[in-house]
Amino acid sequence: MTPPRFNLEALRERMSEGSFANGLDLAQDGAVELVAVEDEVASAHVRGGDLYVVELRPPADGTCTCPGFEKFGACKHQVATAAAVNALDTAGLQKVQSRMARLRDGLALESREALIERLIDLARRRPEVLAALEGG
Ligand SMILES: [Zn+2]
Repeated sequence: MTPPRFNLEALRERMSEGSFANGLDLAQDGAVELVAVEDEVASAHVRGGDLYVVELRPPADGTCTCPGFEKFGACKHQVATAAAVNALDTAGLQKVQSRMARLRDGLALESREALIERLIDLARRRPEVLAALEGG
């Protein structure tokens, strides 16, 4: 599978030089946890003060849950995600690409009741999971 390649220049044009540089620093500092990298979208959790969820589509479109994205439509977390994906070597890419498949395979082994209990437990401890499950 060919990895998506993100256009960092396109992101640079949407923000200040400082924000762009901060995004590159986040990637460099290992603040990006790549959750999934597919042909059409990369998903990441980026720690920068808080933990933000980034979805990025090539060449340089997507979303982030941070206030900066909401205000400006682009943010350093997107830069960090783009840089982290672009920097993946083949082995790193394969590892990220198989991550959700491995999770799915593991979950498939559990009973329905066990999965429900895990979700209930997560909802109890994670407000965003509770909100997502109650919101449907
Ligand atoms: Zn952001």
